[in-house]
Amino acid sequence: MLASSLLLGASAYFGGRDWCGTQTNSPEFLSSVAALQALEQTADAVDARQSGATANITIPVYMTAFVNTTNSQDILSDNDLKAQFDVLVESYAPLGITFTLKNTTRIVNDDYAMGFDYYNFNGIKAETKQGGYDTLNLYYVTNMDPTEWGWGSCTLPTSNITSDSLWARLDGCTLVSYTVPGGTNDGTTYKGQIAVHEVGHWLSLLHTFDGLSCDGPGDYIADTPQESASTLNVCPVGRDSCPDEPGLDPIQNFMDYSGEGW
Ligand SMILES: [Zn+2]
Repeated sequence: MLASSLLLGASAYFGGRDWCGTQTNSPEFLSSVAALQALEQTADAVDARQSGATANITIPVYMTAFVNTTNSQDILSDNDLKAQFDVLVESYAPLGITFTLKNTTRIVNDDYAMGFDYYNFNGIKAETKQGGYDTLNLYYVTNMDPTEWGWGSCTLPTSNITSDSLWARLDGCTLVSYTVPGGTNDGTTYKGQIAVHEVGHWLSLLHTFDGLSCDGPGDYIADTPQESASTLNVCPVGRDSCPDEPGLDPIQNFMDYSGEGW
């Protein structure tokens, strides 16, 4: 239900690449979402008796910007981060999910701003993480190399977590700085929708094309049309990669790869 309701507001065209770095294929996680799917089928019967039933979830958010000394004044201002936060709020509002911005932190550090490799950056996350496992930390990294780690990645939720565990301290989403609304790179002006996609992962959503097949569970969401391939940053209106299954490809779903309106 969540995935299919999380729709892009616009669909312009850009060229591009596979940009999401979130790893969604752990057996433990897939088992969890399968259990949620079964639960949702039961919950639907209850929801039918509640008009306009929504989740009404409120998530505290901390935003941390890692900038280097040469452009510390130019990018990821508080206004940029607030604009990104507003896009999150606006995109999730129809689902009854809202966010409260606890604070923004700006760390000027040339090493941290590089993003490092994945494991080193985990150390920085563990050092700067704020709040508990119910709290979303968004880390914006000035010089992170998207060809290596994508433009964004999040940790997926996991069960049996304790707040002092390493996995809890590494929790959150890491994003390239120019993906905030108004950020620019290679002639593209971003709208903050990469973060909307990544936060979908943080909330447990898979890609709409998960499994890359017309068979199987797909994203485990009952009303997401089956899709056997991502949009890969294009906007193929009317595409139907699984013509024997109901519905056209969900190309305007944030959890496809047409985020940013590609
Ligand atoms: Zn993704």
